[in-house]
Amino acid sequence: MSAQLISGRDIAATIREEVKERVTALNEATGRVPGLATVLVGEDPASQLYVGMKNKAAKAAGIHSEQITLPVDTPEDELLGVVQGLNANPDIHGILVQLPLPGHIDEHKVLLAVDPAKDVDGFHPVNVGKLSTGATDVLAPCTPWGVVQMLLRTGNDPRGKHVVVVGRSNIVGRPMASLLLRRGAGGDATVTVAHSRTPDLGAVTRLADILIVAVGRPGTVTADMVRPGAVVIDVGTNRVDAPDTERGYRVVGDVDFDAVKDVASWITPVPGGVGPMTIAMLLSNTVDAFEHLVGN
Ligand code: NDP
Repeated sequence: MSAQLISGRDIAATIREEVKERVTALNEATGRVPGLATVLVGEDPASQLYVGMKNKAAKAAGIHSEQITLPVDTPEDELLGVVQGLNANPDIHGILVQLPLPGHIDEHKVLLAVDPAKDVDGFHPVNVGKLSTGATDVLAPCTPWGVVQMLLRTGNDPRGKHVVVVGRSNIVGRPMASLLLRRGAGGDATVTVAHSRTPDLGAVTRLADILIVAVGRPGTVTADMVRPGAVVIDVGTNRVDAPDTERGYRVVGDVDFDAVKDVASWITPVPGGVGPMTIAMLLSNTVDAFEHLVGN
């Protein structure tokens, strides 16, 4: 058996097209467009790349986009002032502070400063709390929210299914579990969360109708750990040495793709799987925030 591929690239392209249509309709109705501000502190090349991609995608969808780049030694107070300014800016409906922040800045303080109504990353404790208490009118973290969309849009509704999530981070594993536990579309699953202290991981993952892996370690899930016919979503994004390639590295997931594809019914590739969904959901969240703040 060879699994069907879940192409995050294609699903993300569809969502970005839908976002563009929503932006056009909102502009016709209100005379305004949703606005996204990204804040980058320092010159970390990976962060620069991510922020650049987010701004480019926002512009392509017709979203007004502002990038604020601050020097690496920006004092915490100054950054908090920038965030307050964006909170008060009526042209901005989504605020994203690119993580990680330099060591002298308290990340938690900065995330707390973002107006929860503009928190398109879904990391503010108010949104985390709402999501974990089952609210549906909440800005959800982009990566797990993207995974839900991938499941729904390939006919793999998690309702009534046993979903095993491997990983309990605040960015992926925990919000993933909260989304899957919510009542209604994209939720209503029976959820098990495993992590580094789970003994015999395979015994747990083999129970999964849907297996979602967010660990950050290549080869974490091998074919014998997957129930035949399961849906496998690989969030992992890892660089491994590949001296034979021009770049010198390859990007792989946490799942042994070549072996697991012969056991699973559906599987996401890496790259081209969950990765492209994150930006698509950021744009979608920005339009949701606009609708909430401005009305539709
Ligand atoms: P974290 O390092 O924050 O969390 C990793 C989780 O995996 C932890 O809960 C950890 O357990 C668990 N874990 C580690 N080793 C094992 C093991 N051997 N068996 C079972 N569980 C284990 O990572 P993130 O959640 O931030 O990211 C996970 C992966 O997803 C990374 O590869 C990251 O690059 C990728 N990612 C991709 C995104 C995208 O595609 N857009 C977005 C975000 C992340 P414990 O809590 O006990 O330490």
